[in-house]
Amino acid sequence: MKPWKITSLYYGEITGAKSFITPGIDSDVTIASPYIGFLLQNGEENILVDNGIHESNIVDGKAWGGLPAKGGNRYVLDALAKEGLKPSDIHKVLYTHLHNDHAGGALLFKDTPSYFQLDEYKNLQNQLPSQKIRSDYDPRTPGDVAQLSDVYLIDGDFFMPNGLELYKTPGHTLGSMVIVVPTEKGRYVITGDMPHYSYSLFPLLDEMQLLDGSRTAITPMPQYLPFMFNTVIYDHWAAFASFNRIKALAEKFEPEYFLTGHDPWVIVRHTFG
Ligand SMILES: [Zn+2]
Repeated sequence: MKPWKITSLYYGEITGAKSFITPGIDSDVTIASPYIGFLLQNGEENILVDNGIHESNIVDGKAWGGLPAKGGNRYVLDALAKEGLKPSDIHKVLYTHLHNDHAGGALLFKDTPSYFQLDEYKNLQNQLPSQKIRSDYDPRTPGDVAQLSDVYLIDGDFFMPNGLELYKTPGHTLGSMVIVVPTEKGRYVITGDMPHYSYSLFPLLDEMQLLDGSRTAITPMPQYLPFMFNTVIYDHWAAFASFNRIKALAEKFEPEYFLTGHDPWVIVRHTFG
């Protein structure tokens, strides 16, 4: 099996209080959080993970939660172009989940084989009131997904012949999925929003990196050990089981091996493996 290389893709960003994710902690800290995608390459295949937010979901410069945001399909195309690629060069698209900021560019890859969990599709079709109120799913996504011409609905864990491993990890949504990527440096886990940031898996972290590359102090959260759950966890029991599962999937239980959904360091570092 050929080892993979991982490249993070910048699809724009959303700016909000850190305490959205760590309620009551660091309420004075505001963070610009990137919308993130990944390019996985093994010399034979170009695989894309997630495709950001659609521009129609940013109204008057604001997106989810009424927070200032920027992004859209142009960002996806620009991120790919920086890697010398265009949508038709992508062989498969994997979706960690179908939230507004992870599946917004779906129609750029309309005829590309697309993989997501069956339960994620069910969640998209049958949303909880809280998910609707906050517009976690873009209202356009059901229509976009219906136009995809080659969908693989994964029901549980699935090991791809190319070495990538897909695991169903519910909690943030019904059908969240993480992707284990074997590289020369070991096994990396692309977590989607399970969790969003490193400090959710490692509550003792006392600093984080920002999008400009600088580092800022954050408050360690020993009271939340072993994991910090946030306000967009819908099933805490499922999330607890999933986090324990994710913990065991990486090369080591260190922040390096967990490429979380919106943590700025993932964009700053850019390449892995
Ligand atoms: Zn999400």
